[in-house]
Amino acid sequence: MASSSNSPCAACKFLRRKCQPECVFAPYFPPDQPQKFSNVHKVFGASNVTKLLNELHPSQREDAVNSLAYEADMRLRDPVYGCVGVISLLQHQLRQLQMDLSCAKSELSKYQNLGITGHAGLIAAAAAAATATATTHHHHHHPQNLGINLIGAGGGGGRDHHYHHQFFPKGSATGDEEL
Ligand SMILES: [Zn+2]
Repeated sequence: MASSSNSPCAACKFLRRKCQPECVFAPYFPPDQPQKFSNVHKVFGASNVTKLLNELHPSQREDAVNSLAYEADMRLRDPVYGCVGVISLLQHQLRQLQMDLSCAKSELSKYQNLGITGHAGLIAAAAAAATATATTHHHHHHPQNLGINLIGAGGGGGRDHHYHHQFFPKGSATGDEEL
């Protein structure tokens, strides 16, 4: 039997008990990080952590302990929201950025489509506009329709309709999907 280190792990030291060689805490709560266990103990309780670790495969325990330590730390800093406060803030930022990205893609595809639309494209666009006028009446008011409106006005004779959907068929304009 290899004799274990003299100093007990942070958990056993905190709980004032003898650190056994098979101590479930020892690999994850080294003696030089006493705060880690004290936080986890305060928030979750030592017996709950023991139970949780024993239910997990040893390969998953380190991740679990780090997660508990993070959650405990955040819970002590923010007793109301804990780590959910940070998570929801980041989710909000993520949604905002996805919306910005979607708008930017939509803008970009507008210019790309204008770039590849030659004379034939304009005729086709005018035809599509005329068809759309005859069948449907869309009244979208998005800033990105401004460019389309100019083409529609030139080819179709100053009509007041927007032909966004005819110019940006689904699948080609990636920025067009709703979030
Ligand atoms: Zn121990």
